[in-house]
Amino acid sequence: MQLQLAMHSSPRFSTWLWFNDWKLLIDAGDGVTQQLGYKIRKIDTFLMTHAHRDHVGGLIQVVNQRGEAGSFLLGHPVGGRAWGQMEHFTRSFNPGSSNAAMWKALEEGDWIESGVEGRLMRSFRTRHYADDDLRAAPRSLGFHLIWRKMKVKPEYQSLTQAELDKIRLEIGREGITAPVDEKWVTVSGDGEPLSAGEVAGTQLLVHEATFLSPDDYDAEEAGEDVGHVHSTLWQALSLAREAGVPNVLLYHISTRYSDAEIRDAVRAVAGEIKLEAKVWAALPRRVYFDVFREKPLFGS
Ligand SMILES: [Zn+2]
Ligand SMILES: [Zn+2]
Repeated sequence: MQLQLAMHSSPRFSTWLWFNDWKLLIDAGDGVTQQLGYKIRKIDTFLMTHAHRDHVGGLIQVVNQRGEAGSFLLGHPVGGRAWGQMEHFTRSFNPGSSNAAMWKALEEGDWIESGVEGRLMRSFRTRHYADDDLRAAPRSLGFHLIWRKMKVKPEYQSLTQAELDKIRLEIGREGITAPVDEKWVTVSGDGEPLSAGEVAGTQLLVHEATFLSPDDYDAEEAGEDVGHVHSTLWQALSLAREAGVPNVLLYHISTRYSDAEIRDAVRAVAGEIKLEAKVWAALPRRVYFDVFREKPLFGS
């Protein structure tokens, strides 16, 4: 997978993802500034999936540290009261740097420009709150990372290079090319499995898999998981198969599991459903600076 992704994901404690190529930070769990250090200043876009403590614990630090380097976009779901309260607080806490954050309430389907030319993000609604009212403003979002490439228009694609060059001289490069959007990455955020339609066409599905087995879903020990909907390993990989995704990265895997239990379960389920994709898993408790340097757990 040609993508540099630094991340950490331990449900209940901390989740954050840093996409270097998009200059994009998604979520700000505890420890994100400590781990990324001065890379925090490279963030152009800071997007939040939802307002749970394991995703917002490091927000004040990010806003303060990043704000020292000038203005940047902070996008969050339009629904829920927490965002207004956090904005109000951070604006009074070190206002000199915190006021550099441009808070933006996002609806589902919003396009967000990154600071990198041709790289965009698009939000979509997720189902994470059991009492979520689909007619109300979304309280949780996932994000597509889109790569907008200029490609030769279909009507010119059968021409030889010499013929193309001739037309380009006549009408200019803009005349023979048109933008084509490629869905490069889809990040699920927390919640029940995304729909295959939402995911189809993406190169990499980053999907939560809080529980390895549906039997674990009885969340007696889960505390904050009560009333919050999560996905199982089987659901996440079945979605990948249904949508025909070539690469999957599982994250938000419960810290109750050992590394060996996670590796064994991923291989067993992927094998059982005959998945034709490469599968990586971001193990909980571990910080990755380039997660795709690791060998996939499944597929090759
Ligand atoms: Zn979470
Ligand atoms: Zn959550």
